[in-house]
Amino acid sequence: MTDQLEDVMPSKHKERARFQTVNPATGEPGRTYDQHSIDDAHAAAAAAHTAFLSWRRTSFAERSMIVREAGAILRRRQDEFARLMTEEMGKTLDDGRVEVEKCAFQCDWFADHAEDYLAPQPVDVGGPEAFVTFNPLGVVLAVMPWNFPFWQVFRFAAPALMAGDGALLKHASNVPGCALAIEQLLHEAGVPRDLFRTLLLPSSEVEALIEDDNIAAVTLTGSVGAGRSVATAAGGVLKKCVLELGGSDAYVVLDDVDVTAAAKVAATARMVNGGQSCIAGKRFVVIRSILGDFERALVEAMRGYAMGDPAQEGTKLGPMQSVKARDEIHRQVSDSVAKGARLLLGGEVPDRPGAWYPATVLADVCPGQPAHDEEVFGPVAAIIAADDEADAIRIANASEYGLGSGVLTADIDRGRLIAARDLEAGLAFVNENVRSDPRMPFGGVKHSGYGRECSAYGIREFTNIKSVHVKPLGGADGRAVE
Ligand code: NAP
Repeated sequence: MTDQLEDVMPSKHKERARFQTVNPATGEPGRTYDQHSIDDAHAAAAAAHTAFLSWRRTSFAERSMIVREAGAILRRRQDEFARLMTEEMGKTLDDGRVEVEKCAFQCDWFADHAEDYLAPQPVDVGGPEAFVTFNPLGVVLAVMPWNFPFWQVFRFAAPALMAGDGALLKHASNVPGCALAIEQLLHEAGVPRDLFRTLLLPSSEVEALIEDDNIAAVTLTGSVGAGRSVATAAGGVLKKCVLELGGSDAYVVLDDVDVTAAAKVAATARMVNGGQSCIAGKRFVVIRSILGDFERALVEAMRGYAMGDPAQEGTKLGPMQSVKARDEIHRQVSDSVAKGARLLLGGEVPDRPGAWYPATVLADVCPGQPAHDEEVFGPVAAIIAADDEADAIRIANASEYGLGSGVLTADIDRGRLIAARDLEAGLAFVNENVRSDPRMPFGGVKHSGYGRECSAYGIREFTNIKSVHVKPLGGADGRAVE
């Protein structure tokens, strides 16, 4: 695979560091990839800026054709890309296929709607002509995580390219093959070579790249710690920054539910991507009167997620992304149990190579336990008891995070009100699992980050929202106040 880097900018360094992939299902080493140097990255930023100066002048029709073609390539090579994700981070093949299709839909959606989203907006200011334009900002540095290796990138890239921006991708170190495949497919679709580049860089080089004058803005999807570093670096050079960070999504389970139906939604929400999703349901806050019934129903629903070969069709739970990540999940479970949580299912590390962890359910979860206080990035459902509806909402909101949230109830009106008014989160769903959608804004509050992706709100994040006033020369000007 190192030959894929042959056409990258020449490096001044003879010896390059390498990224080594590991198959999480077996623990076996996979391919190695030469890293780029920081000099390569600065050269790529300069080239991307030059490419941006032309790209910003292209029509929506031209960009649309290219982005739509990217969607077509994703569909044509769906299996290949899904297998790559399975090899590099253990995603089940079925989930990988769905992810690739979602990226294609994202491309189609923004190819079709970007022009409307970014059309100049006339404003009546009670005098001569005034309108708002949405002009591209420049080259955006995208720092992305491994858990949805294709979707996270396309969630940002399809709208950014349609808006007229360029991009440099610094993907997570364990998915270099996915990162290069994305670059290759975008170039095949017609995105100018220098406009979108993948840089195989360690995270220690991100700050230097943010400071590069050719980088206009940065977007990061990842952990709170990484968000803090990137926001600090971007703040130091006063550059726009969008952060999509962690979540500890709570579902309020009211006492009017059919517990079997509610537990099914809860298990689906928890087990998205083997539990390794920022918007997976992590805390289930249940009114005490139905607690026992809900616990039994959730255990049954979670039992349905048996571990299996991620490359086999029909597998519902593959390995975690790495042994290190699995060990951290197990630490969180063990510490929670030591501090009073009741283990209802799973919770044991299987004796086999690879990064395996079973579907796990914890009850009696309360403050002071990692399952309550931290984001658990794996297949672990935490059940928390609440006295009543108000108490459940209080517990759901008592988190440093505010990404997704949900309400499970038979009373739609009650659910709608709690979702719309009470839950402190960027997304709230009634009786279904939280998910992203190209047509709806996506993002969080509190430590889950700021800024939005998807929809008209997302595509405008990396634009200059400009006020334009036009009037004929002459005539009286009013008194000026700033
Ligand atoms: P992570 O360690 O923060 O890594 C994410 C990306 O940031 C990677 O490309 C990583 O590069 C880079 N990175 C790490 N530390 C950095 C630093 N100090 N400065 C600059 N870049 C840095 O995240 P993770 O643990 O792999 O992923 C899981 C986290 O992401 C969870 O908290 C999850 O909730 C969150 N997430 C959020 C969303 C969302 O949309 N809100 C979506 C998915 C995941 P290296 O791989 O080279 O370290």
